[in-house]
Amino acid sequence: MNNLSGIAASNGIAIAKAYILAAPDLSFEKKKVENTATEIERLNKALEISKQELEKIKENARKSLGDEHAEIFSAHLLVLSDPELINPIQDKIKTDQVNAEAALEDVANMFIDMFKAMENEYMRERAADIQDVTKRVMAHLLDVTFPDPALIDEEVVVIAEDLTPSDTAQLNKQFVKGFTTNIGGRTSHSAIMARSLEIPAVVGTKTVTEEVKKDDMLIVDGIDGKVIINPSEEELATYKQKQEDFAKQKEVWAQLKDEPTISADGTHVELVANIGTPEDVVGVLNNGGEGVGLYRTEFLYMGKSELPTEDEQFEAYKSVLEQMGEKPVVVRTLDIGGDKELSYLKLPEEMNPFLGFRAIRLCLERDDIFRTQLRALLRASTYGNLKIMFPMIATLDEFRQAKALLLEEKDNLKNEGVSVSDDIEIGIMVEIPSTAVIARQFAKEVDFFSIGTNDLIQYTMAADRMNERVSYLYQPYHPAILSLVNNVIEAAHAEGKWAGMCGEMAGDSIAIPILLGLGLDEFSMSATSILPARTQIKDLSKDELASYKDQLLAMSTADEVEAFIREKTNQ
Ligand code: PEP
Ligand code: MG
Repeated sequence: MNNLSGIAASNGIAIAKAYILAAPDLSFEKKKVENTATEIERLNKALEISKQELEKIKENARKSLGDEHAEIFSAHLLVLSDPELINPIQDKIKTDQVNAEAALEDVANMFIDMFKAMENEYMRERAADIQDVTKRVMAHLLDVTFPDPALIDEEVVVIAEDLTPSDTAQLNKQFVKGFTTNIGGRTSHSAIMARSLEIPAVVGTKTVTEEVKKDDMLIVDGIDGKVIINPSEEELATYKQKQEDFAKQKEVWAQLKDEPTISADGTHVELVANIGTPEDVVGVLNNGGEGVGLYRTEFLYMGKSELPTEDEQFEAYKSVLEQMGEKPVVVRTLDIGGDKELSYLKLPEEMNPFLGFRAIRLCLERDDIFRTQLRALLRASTYGNLKIMFPMIATLDEFRQAKALLLEEKDNLKNEGVSVSDDIEIGIMVEIPSTAVIARQFAKEVDFFSIGTNDLIQYTMAADRMNERVSYLYQPYHPAILSLVNNVIEAAHAEGKWAGMCGEMAGDSIAIPILLGLGLDEFSMSATSILPARTQIKDLSKDELASYKDQLLAMSTADEVEAFIREKTNQ
C-alpha cells in the first residue's frame, strides 16, 4: 500500500473508489484472427456501448450546458452510425483477417488523413470527430475506461493529472466525493473550484495517477493533504472518525453564521466570499458570507462554444445581486488567459500565458467583448449593491481606459433610457507588484483595492502558481509580500478608501492575524473558510497584532514570520 502527500486544496474527508480521469492507454497488438465473426461481434458491441455512452453524455451536456454544446455529441453519434465508416472496418476484419482494433485503427486513420487534408474547415473538423469517436470505441474494445466526468453516476473520488476549470465545472457533487491530482497548487483553479463546490481535494501529489488503479479504494484527506490508497480496516475507522469530527466542527462554526465578524477588541471586518457562478451564492449565504468579494465572471465564458450574450450575462449578474440583497457584490470583469482558455477565441499559443495577453490586456484590445460585459453589469446594477473591479491592472493608464469605457457604456445606456445605479464603486485588483508599489498613486483614482495574492505572490516570487515543483516559493508570509500588502492597505487608508483581499491568503489561518494587524478591511475567501475565520477573529486582538507590524515587516524569512504568529496566536 502506498500513501501519498500533496497539497490540501479543499477541506473535508472523502472515502470512495477511484475514478481515473486520464487519457487511457490505447496501445494494442495487431493480430491475425481465425474467427472473423467473433471480431465483428466485438466491434459491434464496442460501437453499441459507445453510442449509449454518447447519448448519456449528450443528455447531460444538454441539461448542464445547453443545446448547442450537446450538438457536438450528435455529430459524434452520427459518425458512429455512418456505414461509410463502419462497413469498411467490418470488411477489413473479414478480408485481412485482423483483429477489430487493427481494422478500426487503419480505417479511421485513412478517413482522418483524408479529412485533415481538405480545404474546407468544416470537413477538417470532422477529422477531429472521427478521432474522438475512434478513441472511445477503441477503449471499449480494449476494455479500458474512457473517462468522462459527465458520465459519473456512482460515488467516486476523481483522479487526474490535472483538472481543467471546465472539467471541474462538470463534476457532479452528488457523485464526486473528492478529487486528487498530480499537479496544481492551492491557488490553481481546480483547487479554487473544489472549494466552491465544497468537495474535499488534494492536489500536487505528483504521482497519484501512476499509483492508483481503477476501482482502488481511496481516502482523500483534504484537511492534511493526504491520499490513502486501499486503506486498512484500521485506517478506514480512523478516517471515518475524522470525517465525523469534521462534521461536528462544522456545526460549531455554524453557530456564528448570522453574527458579524468582530475581533476581541471590537474591530469589525468584513468576511465575504469568492464565487464563480450564481449557483455558488447559496453556499455563501449558508456559510455566513457578508457579501461577495470576488465574482470570477470568466466561468460564464467557459465550457461554451461562443461568447455569452449581453442578456445571458445580465441574467447571471442580476441573479447574484438579487440573491445577495443589500450585501455588497464585487464583480471582477473578464480575466481570461493564464490557465483559463477560451477555445473559441482562437488566441495564439503563448510561451508564458501568465505573463501574456490576459485579463484587462485582452479586454482593452477586444473592447467589443469588454463593452458587452460592462453593459450587462451596468444593466444589472439596479438589482443590488454592485461594485466592479478590473483584473491585472499594471498601469494607471489601463485603469483609466477601462473606467472610461465603463462610463461611456453607462452614458450609452442612459441615453437608451435604461436605468443604471449611480453608486457603483470602481476598483482594481492588485495582483502585479508594480501596482502594489505605487498603490499611493492608484489610491487617488480608484474607489477600492482588492489584493489578488494568488497572482501577486507568483509574480513577486517569480514562481508559477500551477507548478508544484516551485510551490515552495508560494510564500504568503514572505516579508516581501507582507510589505506589498501593507503598502496597499496604507495607501488606501491615506485616501479614505478601503482595501480588501481576494487571494487565497485572505482565508489562511496564519495570514488572518497578520492581515488584521495590518488593517485589512475586507477578507474574501472560499465560502467554506468564512466560519472558521470568523471563529478565529473573534479571539484576536487587533491592537495587539497591529503593534507587531514593524517587527514582522523587518523579518527576513517567511518561516520567521510563521513561527512568530504561531507563538503569539497559539497555533
Ligand atoms: C488572485 O490572483 O489572487 C485572484 C484572486 O485571482 P485569480 O485566482 O482568479 O487569478
Ligand atoms: Mg488573479
